[in-house]
Amino acid sequence: MTTYTTTSFQPVLDRIAEEIAGLTDRGAPADYIPALAAGDPADFGMAVAELDGTVYGVGDWRRPFSTQSVTKVFTLALALAGEGDALWAHVGREPSGDPFNSLVQLEYENGIPRNPFINAGALVVTDRLHRLTGDASGSLLNFLRAESGNPELAFDTAVAASEATHGDRNAALAHFMASYGNITGPVPDLLREYFRQCSLEASCADLALATGFLARHGLRADGTRLLTRSQAKQVNAVMLTCGTYDAAGDFAYRVGLPGKSGVGGAVVAVVPGRCTLCVWSPGLDSRGNSVAGVTALDRFTTITGLSVF
Ligand code: GLU
Repeated sequence: MTTYTTTSFQPVLDRIAEEIAGLTDRGAPADYIPALAAGDPADFGMAVAELDGTVYGVGDWRRPFSTQSVTKVFTLALALAGEGDALWAHVGREPSGDPFNSLVQLEYENGIPRNPFINAGALVVTDRLHRLTGDASGSLLNFLRAESGNPELAFDTAVAASEATHGDRNAALAHFMASYGNITGPVPDLLREYFRQCSLEASCADLALATGFLARHGLRADGTRLLTRSQAKQVNAVMLTCGTYDAAGDFAYRVGLPGKSGVGGAVVAVVPGRCTLCVWSPGLDSRGNSVAGVTALDRFTTITGLSVF
């Protein structure tokens, strides 16, 4: 297997971008959130961040986009850092086998969502984080600004408002879990925090850097510890098994890395001990993952041999 040195990431990214440019079927942007529907599947960006914060990129890698469910990785990490294993009494860690916004399992399973990356689980995590910090979305924003080194990261209030207007499904999930006692605060407060969280705008460079603590086994960019080594392993494991909607098996098969996608078209991925990646292209497949994004990550691990397997 070829061992790639630091300086060789740029040619790899350039080669992938060239291949992606020839990709004809790129899926379609999410349209259930009207503010995302204008996304252009031709847009593509990709960044790789090394453990020391060196970043390589190609295409639209510095352009901000709607991060959506990628933020679920960071709220999970912050909640786990805040309350440790007690979190797992409120949310499971098994793939759901159902779409990300499904209600059906919740009734059979007494209001405990299968995992933190489906919407129900993410709502529970944001509720826990809000309870721990008094300001879930603010804690998330501060963390991402610090880890990315970008003080300008911000929420997109138009996207948050658009989600709130079309948020009946998330409201139903939150109220249903509250009826089982699995949401601690008022549901309207939780929905406000959750929609703000999903509306965060960031670039591939920002997200690749911000995910670095998972490749550094829990250490933040400044060298302080957010998660124990074991907790970082746990978050990576849940990403691998549950991070890419109802296609986590296919993503593991093709890419072979812990990853988390969002309906804005971003996917982050972690090579523990080595680097982190973020790729963005708004065209999604039928299960909600970026077509060009997953293809690019597949090519990255195939070309470099950098995978957890
Ligand atoms: N804000 C979106 C929702 O709650 C996030 C979905 C996603 O990216 O998976 O529906």
